[in-house]
Parts: sequence; C-alpha cells; structure tokens
Amino acid sequence: MASPGTLKYDTQPLYIAGAHHTTSQTFQDIDPSCDRPLADICKADKVTIDTAVEAGKRAFPSWSATPPMERSRILLKAVALLRERNDDLARVETHDTGKPFTETSTVDVVTGADVLEYYANLIASGGLNGETTQLRADAWIYTTKAPLGVCAGIGAWNYPIQIALWKSAPCLAAGNCMVYKPSEFTPLHALKLAEIYTEAGLPAGVFNVVQGAGDVGAMLTSHPGIAKVSFTGQVATGSKVASAAAAGMKYVTMELGGKSPCLILPDAELENAVNGAMMANFFSTGQVCTNGTRVFVPESLLPAFEKRLLEKMDDIRPGDLMDPNTNFGPLVSKVHCEKVTKYIHHGINVDKAKLLYGGLGKLSLPKGINGDGYWVKPTVFTNCTDSMLIASEEIFGPVMTILPYADNTPLYVDTLIKRANGTPMGLAAGVFTSNIDLAHRLVARLEAGITWVNTWGESPAEMPVGGWKMSGMGVENGRRGLQNWVQNKSTLVEMGGVVASVFEKVERAKL
Ligand code: NDP
Repeated sequence: MASPGTLKYDTQPLYIAGAHHTTSQTFQDIDPSCDRPLADICKADKVTIDTAVEAGKRAFPSWSATPPMERSRILLKAVALLRERNDDLARVETHDTGKPFTETSTVDVVTGADVLEYYANLIASGGLNGETTQLRADAWIYTTKAPLGVCAGIGAWNYPIQIALWKSAPCLAAGNCMVYKPSEFTPLHALKLAEIYTEAGLPAGVFNVVQGAGDVGAMLTSHPGIAKVSFTGQVATGSKVASAAAAGMKYVTMELGGKSPCLILPDAELENAVNGAMMANFFSTGQVCTNGTRVFVPESLLPAFEKRLLEKMDDIRPGDLMDPNTNFGPLVSKVHCEKVTKYIHHGINVDKAKLLYGGLGKLSLPKGINGDGYWVKPTVFTNCTDSMLIASEEIFGPVMTILPYADNTPLYVDTLIKRANGTPMGLAAGVFTSNIDLAHRLVARLEAGITWVNTWGESPAEMPVGGWKMSGMGVENGRRGLQNWVQNKSTLVEMGGVVASVFEKVERAKL
C-alpha cells in the first residue's frame, strides 16, 4: 500500500458509449490527506457532452424496451461485482475523499450497492406496474409508466459512489439512460462504476461519465437532449440548476443542504443522546447533508450532557486513513477547509459562542502522519443562540452548536418546535426522548423530510429521503424514489362507443 503523497492513479478518461473516451484537456484531482496530486482527469467540453448525450439517445430505445426482469438481472450482476470489489472501491474513495477506510469500506459502497439491489428487485416484482380502474361496466382506465429518456446525474463530493448509485440505480432500472458528472473534487469512482456496469452486461451508452467542474454540470443541465436532472449539492447551486432545467421543462430531483435540528428532550437517555449528537456531527468529518448541527439541549440536562460529550470527544481518532483504529479524516478540499475554518473563526470571534472543544489551530496527528492535508479540529460550541451565523448556516464540517433551552415552563415544547423549524431548510430532524408518545407528536410538527427517533443518520434503501423547504424537491430511495424516473400515461378504454359515452350524456342532460 502506497503512503499518501506517493500514490498516483493513471490519467482518468471519460466513459462514453461503453468505452474510455480521452480529451486533450485535463484537471488535477488532489489527495485531501496530504495536499498532493492524485490523478489527472480528462475534462469534458461541449462537444464531448453532445457525444455522451447522443450515446444515451442511441441506447435508449433498446434499453427502455428491455423487459424489467432482464434489466434486473444485469443490475444484480453489477451488485455482485460491487460487493466483490468492496474494499478496492472503498480504498479509492478513501484516497479521493479523505474519509477513513473504516467508513468507506462499511458504508459508502455497501449503501450504494444496497440501493441498486433494491431497485433491481423492485422492477422484477412489478414496481413499474400501473393501475387499472373500472370506470363503468363498459369502460376502464389503465395507467402505464414510461421512462423519461436520457437523464443527467450531478453528484456532490461527500459520498461519491453512493450518490452515483443512488441516482443511476432507479434511473437505469426504470429504463432510462444516464450521463453522470461527479464532483471535480472526487472523480475517481465514476470510471470504476461505469466499468462495473459494462462488465455486468449493461449495453453501451446506457451509463456514461463526463468529468469537470460546474460549467460541465451547467452544460449538461441545459442540454436539450436531457430529460431530467438529478442533482445533489448546495442549495445555491441547486437553485441555479433547477432554474436552468425549468427553462427546458425538464424533470428535476434536488437533494440539497440542511441545518437540521437534533432535539434532546429532558427525559432522553443520556448516553444514547450524546452518541446521537456525535453521530450527527462528526461522522465523515461532519460532511453529511443530514447532519444535526443544531443540538437543542434542555438546561436541566446541559451540565451532564456537556460532561459526557467532552469525555466522548476523545474517542475521535484522526490518523492514517487505512488504519482500522482511525475514525476521523481531513476535509475534502482546500477550499472547503478554508470555508469551515472561517466559520469556526466566526463562531469564536464574531458570534462569541462559548468554545467547549476544538477550535482553530493545527489538529494534532499521530507521529508519521503528513499534516499538510485539510485537517481541522472537531469543534463544539455551546451556549449558542439561533441568530448566530454558526447556528444558522450550513457549515458542512465537524462543528457542533449546542443551543440550550429552558425546560421549566409548561409550553416549552411549543417554543422548542418553533426554534427547530426556524430555518429556511428542512432536510432532516431528530428527537431523543424516552416518551414515545411525545416523540411522534414532535416528529409530526417538525418541518423536515427525513426524521429519526432516538437515532441519527441511518438511511437504508427502503427509506425514501428528500428535503422540505429549500432542502430539495423529490425523493431518492424507497418505492417512491422510482416514481421520480418515470412519466405516467393514462388510457381510457370505452367499449360502448363514443356517442353512448359522451354525446348521449349531453343530450340526456338537456332533456
Ligand atoms: P455544490 O453545489 O458545490 O456542487 C454539487 C455538484 O454540482 C458538483 O458536481 C458541482 O461541480 C456541480 N455544479 C456546480 N455548479 C453547477 C452549475 N451551475 N450547474 C450544474 N452543476 C453545477 O455542492 P458540493 O459538492 O459542495 O456538496 C456539498 C453540498 O451537497 C452540501 O450542501 C450538502 O448538504 C449537499 N448534499 C446533499 C445531500 C442530500 O441528499 N440532500 C447529500 C449530499 C450532499 P464541481 O464540484 O465539480 O464544481
């Protein structure tokens, strides 16, 4: 195993029409753990994008007409290959994202393959069936679901292969083709996935990869040959993408950012609540869209909560990313590291929140680990208020804000819910309490598309996930996730003849 900084991948081509596709322009992929080049990546331009969309268009008639059972068999073969190569793929993700191998080998590829398996099984068991309605004795309605065409998938950098699979699985299962663009910061998984699909038997042109920055995503979004854009990223970028897609009346799914509330109730089981808050802030170095970064803690529980949290913060172990003991990595890129550091600086110097743990300065790393990468200290601010910048904007790093609330008034729950919902975003929310009755009442009032009770972060294939308010449109995963990749056709069949069914009624009505 090469040590960080000495590792270099071959130049990564694009993948179009079932084959590698090289371009003259390249950009550099950087290893976030040590700030050194990891690979040169071919960059797509307008002509390449046209070629990729055309490849999808050529493949569409045959792929969309392939019986679901046959499509399912191919996708299940890809699932088997993904699982067989789990550790190799996880290693690539670790190099590219800076996430510890303990995470990428147990979460990233696994949860992506699960979703592909879920949709492969769903389409083989009637998931694309329509409905029949007996309208009258001699007339009925039936609906069918048709794929959309060539769709664009545009991914973020935090769960690269998982996002690629969460988009391509329902897209391809429904009979569509895809042109996928990963984030320029984490491009390596895309070629591997495309090769796996081909090896599994996916026809050429059904899944294509183009690489590049936002301009490549923008060209894809406005391309007239694209029927739908499935986007994961920041709210601001999502707004631009949705506007551009609207101009072409394209379907969209938007999986965007959040500033999610984690509600600890006075009767919460302390150990579980602290574990939940940690999971909701420090897993993947805080680079998880559903993070519960606003941790509401009752004043009556605050001292005990902070004490236990501080003890547990020492369980966060940065280090060699391949070491089974390491559970904390660097941030994904220099620019993101600067952004997160600015928020920590703002929290200390402008918001003047109380710094409970971490803060600015170099994170101490075990001996022998290159500290040139984008490492920041896991950080906890307490005594925060809702108006502070660190408590209102998405930081997307390992920064927890604790917001104490008074729990000695009869209506404290109403105030708590109002504060929890006091954000333009609505991706996730969670409640920790021993009172299950209260948990359900609270969940019903939370303005968020993904909610948890006494846990945080699990997002299995069966669970449809998507944001409310500015956090997105549509859902991924679950049975509902498939419906975002098909269009409905309704057919009314009349056996009694036109006159009998319509004009006769009008005539009768006149009498
Ligand atoms: P960005 O919005 O910066 O980028 C997302 C993708 O869009 C990237 O591939 C990017 O390319 C591309 N892009 C940038 N500009 C445009 C444009 N004008 N048109 C089309 N595509 C464009 O998000 P990040 O990559 O920084 O990801 C982090 C964000 O993603 C966080 O806000 C997080 O909450 C959110 N997220 C949401 C999830 C959800 O399910 N709700 C899941 C995971 C993350 P490039 O990177 O190459 O510039």
